[in-house]
Amino acid sequence: MEEVAPEAAKAKTAAPFGTAFTSRMTLARYSDGQWQGVENVPVGPLPLHPASHVLHYGSTCFEGLKAYRMPDGEVKIFRLDQHVARFQRSAALLCLPQPPADMMEAMIREVVALARDDIPEAPGALYLRPTLIGTEENIGAAGAPSAEAMVYVLASPVGDYFAGGRGLNILIEDREMRSTPGFGQAKTGGNYASALRHVVRARKEHGADQVLFCPNGDVQETGASNFFLIDDNRLLTKPLDPSFLHGVTRDSVITLARDLGYEVIERDFTVDEIKDWIRTGEAALSGTAAVLSGVGAFIHDGTRYQVGDGGVGPNTRKLSEALRALQSGRTPDRFGWLS
Ligand code: PMP
Repeated sequence: MEEVAPEAAKAKTAAPFGTAFTSRMTLARYSDGQWQGVENVPVGPLPLHPASHVLHYGSTCFEGLKAYRMPDGEVKIFRLDQHVARFQRSAALLCLPQPPADMMEAMIREVVALARDDIPEAPGALYLRPTLIGTEENIGAAGAPSAEAMVYVLASPVGDYFAGGRGLNILIEDREMRSTPGFGQAKTGGNYASALRHVVRARKEHGADQVLFCPNGDVQETGASNFFLIDDNRLLTKPLDPSFLHGVTRDSVITLARDLGYEVIERDFTVDEIKDWIRTGEAALSGTAAVLSGVGAFIHDGTRYQVGDGGVGPNTRKLSEALRALQSGRTPDRFGWLS
């Protein structure tokens, strides 16, 4: 394995999120009805037949999770079991073979071990990207699942995604959907592809950081995170249903907030309620990359609605800091989330 000095790892985190990779990845192939052995290979171009199922019919799903360097130098993965379980659910929705949990956990741990010297200090982390693709060479298989598949785990040293902690600008999109009512829960490239033009428009035409999808006024999620309304005593977020991605960070924020004495309300709510709430309250996005990031303003139908003073609110800051402290081992792992 090519050695990378810790100084090089630090320099790498200056690269935009997800553009620098460690040198090795783990990979396993599925054929003849079973998973073959796990290999440890250099990160580089994959030999893929142009007729591969994934390239035509979008048979792919992925995960995004992080390993953090603890204050004592040890490296731990945040909520590995939850991410592996979601990966399996996505695979099932895409009719791809489900990688067994123990195989996936071992593949992810091996990549982390191989990248040990490449992992920056918190708030940086090693971002892990398990990816599953259908590899059967068959363009006549539009109506059939891929009988062959490949899973691999990429790793990318990352810095803080929303460094600086400014309030984000969020465009409210209340006509279009990000995905479909039944498929939004799958972490699959097709859902990101279907949301992309709205995210691009939000950036280009409105200078927004992200889009909050609210089909028919029902507040769902952004293109890359879940959504919370927050005040001094309460958090409000949409209850789990198949229309959106069930964020591991969302679950962590809920558990942590309850532990800190907040009431957490999971119910459907509307764009009008956001406008009412932010007269006095806060809004935030949760995700593996975003952790918990405050919203500074919403843009809806050409009007700007500022949240508080436009910066990150005190409750968002407090919850975000508590979550970051847990993730990076600065406070005891009282929920057993690190392994
Ligand atoms: N929704 C979408 C569409 C996302 O891409 C993400 C990021 N994975 C999330 C929500 C948050 O999920 P998690 O907290 O598990 O990262």
